[in-house]
Amino acid sequence: MLSIYNTLTRTKEEFKPINPPNVKMYVCGPTVYDYFHIGNARSFIMADIIRRYLEFKGYEVKYIMNLTDVDDRIIKKSISEKRDAKLVADDYSKAFFEDIQKLKIKPADVYPKATNHIEEIIDIIKKLEEKGFAYNIDGNVFYNVNKFPEYGKLSGKKIDELESGARIEINEEKKDPLDFALWKKAKVGEPYWESPWGKGRPGWHIECSAMSCKHLGETFDIHAGGNDLIFPHHENEIAQSEAATGKKFVNYWVHFGFLNINNEKMSKSLGNFFTARDILKIYSAEAVRLAFAQTHYAGPLNFSDELLASAEKGLEKLKNLAEKIEEEIKINRVDGIIPQLEFEKYKTNFEAAMDEDFNSPQACAVIFDFIRDVNRAIAENENINIKFYLSVKEFLRKTAEGVLGILDFSKASTQNDGALENDLIELLIKLRHDAKLEKNYALSDRIRNELKNIGIELQDSKSGTTYKKIKIKNVNILPPGEE
Ligand code: AMP
Ligand code: ZN
Repeated sequence: MLSIYNTLTRTKEEFKPINPPNVKMYVCGPTVYDYFHIGNARSFIMADIIRRYLEFKGYEVKYIMNLTDVDDRIIKKSISEKRDAKLVADDYSKAFFEDIQKLKIKPADVYPKATNHIEEIIDIIKKLEEKGFAYNIDGNVFYNVNKFPEYGKLSGKKIDELESGARIEINEEKKDPLDFALWKKAKVGEPYWESPWGKGRPGWHIECSAMSCKHLGETFDIHAGGNDLIFPHHENEIAQSEAATGKKFVNYWVHFGFLNINNEKMSKSLGNFFTARDILKIYSAEAVRLAFAQTHYAGPLNFSDELLASAEKGLEKLKNLAEKIEEEIKINRVDGIIPQLEFEKYKTNFEAAMDEDFNSPQACAVIFDFIRDVNRAIAENENINIKFYLSVKEFLRKTAEGVLGILDFSKASTQNDGALENDLIELLIKLRHDAKLEKNYALSDRIRNELKNIGIELQDSKSGTTYKKIKIKNVNILPPGEE
């Protein structure tokens, strides 16, 4: 039985989807004004692990992640870069897709963009206005929080407590400091759309209410995002959606702890961040994922070089075993012994861990116990039947690769092919060297040119010849299901 800690009820609850085996899940995605940082990546990766685990359990997950592509920060960037806000958003959306692919994050079913949902956004605001939850002041439309008695139920605060809180925007026009913008009147030079309230653009919160409703319906199973979104973003989404539809918006609210640096939240505004793409130049995606999976999603995690270096080291054991498995599968020994290992026990333990509010650190521990026991069996026995390796692979494929994304079997076999590739290139370098000694320059040039044609460039120096791989064509990454 899977249980999930629900921010809304502040308890761990048994997970009961509305329409099993279907599960509908919405995750707040990036505001595309810059490359995302490794703190954002923590939220995206933990959401991905949850989604993959639901699929492991046999659920059919419809997974939506929005892109906020109209926002103050995008406009600010477009002014500083002196180019259209749309171009800024397009460029960083493209970068977002490249980076999540590198992080082995499974693509969402749809990545809705706010600017493609202006009509739906206007419809909800109109409904809120009709029902008396919204008021228009000179082209700015605000949500009236005092009309929604349950306001504060997600963050667990009462309206008057929230009002005395520091981080609310002061605006003379609003009836209450907690009221928030549904529609913002256009300022000179800003992107705008026509609306019943004049030219303007949507507020951030209403975008998620509109996009989640369009793609998942009025009530859906899971809504996730970082802790910073509980208030006001998710609180406001609930107020808007429930006031508009009269129905419960979301059954399970899941929130991710912050990735911190020196116990402070990693964020663009504090300047204490590393972009995910820079981190991936140093560490593998698997190491980043393992480092994150080894801490429970809800708690804080302190980011450091050591964290990733130690994950990279931990992965060695997993990679070595994966390579051994691939080698043995090639050898294909059909006789020999099959060591006794209780595969079911590890599977049960892995599932029990993840069933307990996605306890991925415990699930990682199960995988490392499994590796230790498999290695012991390999050390204690000679001539092991391929069936054993196939069972080991099956377990790791479903858990380490399938759910956690900390292993890539295709890399384990290409690493072997990589060694072979290296040997073959070295052999050609030697043959070219011999051809040169025999003054057969036609042949030596041919070897150099034909290698170059397939993306291998030879570099001669006094100490000998080395090679490097060069790009032979550009590969375009097409974002899946983008709207
Ligand atoms: P943003 O692009 O700022 O809207 O953030 C995208 C996602 O990353 C949201 O779900 C945020 O809650 C999350 N996020 C932002 N900073 C951090 C952090 N330091 N640690 C974990 N998640 C974060
Ligand atoms: Zn959102």
